[in-house]
Amino acid sequence: MILIMLGAPATGKGSVAEILKEKLNIPSISSGDIFRKNISEETEFGKKIKVFMDKGELVPDDLVLEMITSRLNEDDVKNGVILDGFPRTLKQAEALDKMLEKENKKVDMVVNLETPRDELLERTTNRRNCSNKECNSIYNLILHPPKVEGICDKCGSPLYQRDDAKPEVAKNRLEVYDRETAPLVNYYKKTGVLYTTILSQRINRMKDEVAQDVIEELKNKGL
Ligand code: AMP
Repeated sequence: MILIMLGAPATGKGSVAEILKEKLNIPSISSGDIFRKNISEETEFGKKIKVFMDKGELVPDDLVLEMITSRLNEDDVKNGVILDGFPRTLKQAEALDKMLEKENKKVDMVVNLETPRDELLERTTNRRNCSNKECNSIYNLILHPPKVEGICDKCGSPLYQRDDAKPEVAKNRLEVYDRETAPLVNYYKKTGVLYTTILSQRINRMKDEVAQDVIEELKNKGL
């Protein structure tokens, strides 16, 4: 099963993917997490992509495809995978289709998460991450604040605001999404694999409910 999580930054793709990977028993690959790991480990690849990520721009397609192709060739994805944050451009989507075609596979479902714009900005700029790379916990100052300000509940390390959570970068990321990634909605609509749903705390529709609906939809489609 090949499942894609599509949606603007901070819609909750990663959180829903975390639930789905347990329920479906397949791994979830987050391109953003792989990139951040390369940056924190100061690899050659990390040095090349940092400048784009810091500005909220997309990493160039050739670099993304180099990394994803090698990751998709690993053994743990043979029975299926959830792709969180990839593809993000038409070129990446076409390259993925070609990659899958060679193995007689195809994209089975694209979960398109929608959240009101102002809610997205509020979510992003209030996000705080644990500075301990082993812990990686994520907080939100409004929705899920830490018990002690600035300190991780789980491991006691200081929290910090990721560069892409700063207001000007967050705004740019949404513009980049509209320009580069939103066209994928139509791309996947045409092949009949798109499942659009809302994730918004304002209507109390959160990640567990969304994940449950995705599971139902997969069952309805016999997947
Ligand atoms: P994310 O954690 O998915 O929001 O990704 C964080 C950042 O990583 C994005 O703002 C981009 O700079 C970069 N990135 C992640 N995935 C991709 C992709 N598929 N194509 C281009 N850039 C990406």
